[in-house]
Amino acid sequence: MEFTVTIPPAKHKRIVIIGAGFGGLKLARLLVNTRYQLIILDKNNEHQFQPLFYHVATSGLEPSSICFPLQKIFQKAKNVFIRQATVEAIDSDKNCISTSLGSIEYDYLVIATGCDTNYYGNAPITKHAFGMKSVSEALALRNHILQNLRTHYHESLEKYLNLVIVGGGPTGVEIAGTIADLKNHILPKDCQEVDFSKLRIFLLHSGDRLLATFGTKSSENAKTYLEDSGVRIQLNTKVIGYDGTLVELADGAVIPTNTLIWVAGVTGNKIEGLRAESIIYGKRYRVNEFNMVEGYNNIFAIGDISFQVDKDSPGGHPQLAQVAIQQGKELADNLKRLLQKKAMRRFIYIDYGTMASAGRNKAIFEIGKIKIYGAVAWFIWMFIHLMALLGVKNKILTFFNWAWSYVNFNKNLRFRIKQNIKPE
Ligand SMILES: Cc1cc2nc3c(=O)[nH]c(=O)nc-3n(C[C@H](O)[C@H](O)[C@H](O)COP(=O)(O)OP(=O)(O)OC[C@H]3O[C@@H](n4cnc5c(N)ncnc54)[C@H](O)[C@@H]3O)c2cc1C
Repeated sequence: MEFTVTIPPAKHKRIVIIGAGFGGLKLARLLVNTRYQLIILDKNNEHQFQPLFYHVATSGLEPSSICFPLQKIFQKAKNVFIRQATVEAIDSDKNCISTSLGSIEYDYLVIATGCDTNYYGNAPITKHAFGMKSVSEALALRNHILQNLRTHYHESLEKYLNLVIVGGGPTGVEIAGTIADLKNHILPKDCQEVDFSKLRIFLLHSGDRLLATFGTKSSENAKTYLEDSGVRIQLNTKVIGYDGTLVELADGAVIPTNTLIWVAGVTGNKIEGLRAESIIYGKRYRVNEFNMVEGYNNIFAIGDISFQVDKDSPGGHPQLAQVAIQQGKELADNLKRLLQKKAMRRFIYIDYGTMASAGRNKAIFEIGKIKIYGAVAWFIWMFIHLMALLGVKNKILTFFNWAWSYVNFNKNLRFRIKQNIKPE
């Protein structure tokens, strides 16, 4: 028999939120001290700021600068209960979910589980490539890169001298630019006897231009920025296999490397139990204009896991933090309206612009018809990310880390954190 998770009985209707990422967290914060009981479930104990994962992976930031404990955020909230648990299934007939801790009943359920890396079913790539969807993956990559450089680089073997990134979207461009900065400005100071010009950074992309969701001029600028930093860009290039030492391309070519970073797509963190008709390709829940999952009147989905079309976005909204945040806010307002027996309002996405950084002083910022490039865009990028981080301490730490590395061309976190496993 399954356990029931111990939570005080609800005096008010209970909202269960699965996932405390950008969308779930915004929603929960706006429902603090309302006439709802809120249960927040997340498989992690903290909110993770994904857009800066690659700064952790490249020794620019410490994990604690981009993570925030959930308990701290809701210290003063009387109606919020947080449980670290993985949600495994939804039983919509019984209004109940199964989790790694036991079962929980709900009046309203909000799925805000985001996405994970999509390896398109390729088991060897899944096994050997590095993803970039959690702080632990970012730390694993940081340890691996440093281990390679410190221990193996002197061996001059191609597999240690090549670093391959697959996926030319914003994440791929940002990682490539940051690793190029590491190679050009920082590593040569660490190991003066090593010729870092031999370190080759490849960015492989199956499409015909980088940053496909941006304008063509932005794509060209991103390519120029990266090439100027020494990144080897191969467009129209499909990776079909990787065994941990050799990347296999569709045209038969191979690239030796023991570092493959896979950022070529995402797939929804879907939870078992809902009808197949409410799920679309990419494992996302089809939602209506109120973020209600199609076919259900008390189950909502927000953020990356939701698929919502409107007249301005016939192909669905982009999977971005701003969409998740705005949907979380609108859903909070709608749930408050339900308490007042008022009609819900439909979600309208406001585009505040998109941006990508391609290394020091090199960024792209688009808002409507306005496009800004280079150092100005880079400072805008830094300012917006700094402001979006949770917590004053995190903002200050990150600001000082960035300012320090900007002035000194240095990063202070170039150490490996080894796992210490106690013997049996
Ligand atoms: C490297 C990287 C860089 C990015 N850069 C940008 C950028 O510059 N700008 C931008 O707008 N967007 C960026 N994004 C995308 C942005 O981070 C996402 O759009 C955003 O995080 C989506 O928010 P969300 O609330 O839908 O999900 P998430 O923020 O992904 O949160 C989902 C939460 O659900 C939890 N969860 C998942 N499954 C379960 C389960 N079964 N049980 C319990 N908990 C679960 C997870 O632990 C997580 O906390 C980037 C993403 C990555 C990975």
